[in-house]
Order: sequence, then structure tokens, then C-alpha cells
Amino acid sequence: MLPGIIGVMMATEAIKYILGIGEPLIGRLILYEALGMTYREMKTVKDKECPLCSDNPVITQLIDDYDAAAENPETYEPAAD
Ligand SMILES: [Zn+2]
Repeated sequence: MLPGIIGVMMATEAIKYILGIGEPLIGRLILYEALGMTYREMKTVKDKECPLCSDNPVITQLIDDYDAAAENPETYEPAAD
């Protein structure tokens, strides 16, 4: 049941984002506590040094071979596009 609840929330966010409607969950994090049927909302702050989404990202593509990357994370180079 829990994956269904979270999945519906994620799908709802995707639909809102695609349609440009509502208040997207950008810069906010929902903590859902199923046992008490409660949730909390936290604000998130963007990391200006984030290797993925900063102004100068060093991670610019997806890993294409997870096994190779896991075996040699320091030397792994993703294949060029
Ligand atoms: Zn980031």
C-alpha cells in the first residue's frame, strides 16, 4: 500500500509539472508517516556546489554501465554520446 500512496503523489507531481498547474513540490520535501497517517513538509535549500545541478555541474550524463562504475568508481568514465 505504501508504494502506491507515494507513487500516486509522485505521479501527481509529474502531471502538475507537465501541465504547469498547482504548487509543485520544488524546494520542499514531504515526510509521510503511514503509521500515524501524518505528514510533515520541510523546505530544502539548493546546494550551490552540487555536482549535478549547480551552475557548473561536473556530472553531466547518466552512468551507462553501473557494474563498471561500481567496480572502479575513481576511474570510471561514461561512454561519450
Ligand atoms: Zn543538486
